[in-house]
Amino acid sequence: MRTPIIAGNWKMNMNPEQTAEFVKAVKNDLPETTKVEAVIAAPAVDLPALLENAKGSNLKVAAENCYFEDAGAFTGETSPKVLKEMGVDYVVIGHSERRDYFHETDEEINKKAHAIFRNGLLPIICCGESLETREANKAEEWVERQVTAALKDLSAAQVSSLVIAYEPIWAIGTGKTASADQAEEICGVVRKTVAKLYDETVAEKVRIQYGGSVKPANVKELMAKENIDGGLVGGASLVPESYLQLVNFN
Ligand code: PGA
Repeated sequence: MRTPIIAGNWKMNMNPEQTAEFVKAVKNDLPETTKVEAVIAAPAVDLPALLENAKGSNLKVAAENCYFEDAGAFTGETSPKVLKEMGVDYVVIGHSERRDYFHETDEEINKKAHAIFRNGLLPIICCGESLETREANKAEEWVERQVTAALKDLSAAQVSSLVIAYEPIWAIGTGKTASADQAEEICGVVRKTVAKLYDETVAEKVRIQYGGSVKPANVKELMAKENIDGGLVGGASLVPESYLQLVNFN
């Protein structure tokens, strides 16, 4: 049985004071981590406030990005080693915004995945096609290619423990959710890709999130799907009430 994982992705929307207030508002109403893992991915500048306020609660903490080296002359980057020392659990990598605006490549995403494991953290690896790719009927091969590139040279044990988020770009922040069937179809492709690269046991263990306009009104239907083990949620994760409804979907 895969433990569902619902992660808020705050993007660049919160400051440390708002972070502290948010955590105080949700920390006592979070599900047991064995039932649903409740995660918030926050900008690096908010991580100290997030970690401090989440102490002793069921909230897990993710960074929204990191670099693939542990230390050195990399001005402006975030070290995965330091994220681990701070107490962070997960790092989101390969989000479509990072691929598009910051030109992150499949090769860099794979290097980041290795750096994250090297430092004892777990990656949430994002993939997903554009509207153009979907309309050209190439969503499946696009996602298969992204997943294959991101997982290069990771061990079966590593892949069993990580999270893959399928986020169709046309559904992000647009209010346009993929239907539960569309989401399930490509999450199934992700799982099949893992089975092809590794084996059925690994594929049964890897957790796959859907992301793109997930909200309290559609989370239940999405989570009922066989291959959807969680959600990566932007807009609807910014308000404590709505975040609580998401993580307590069942
Ligand atoms: P959204 O963002 O929920 O606002 O569509 C999802 C994401 O980008 O992770």
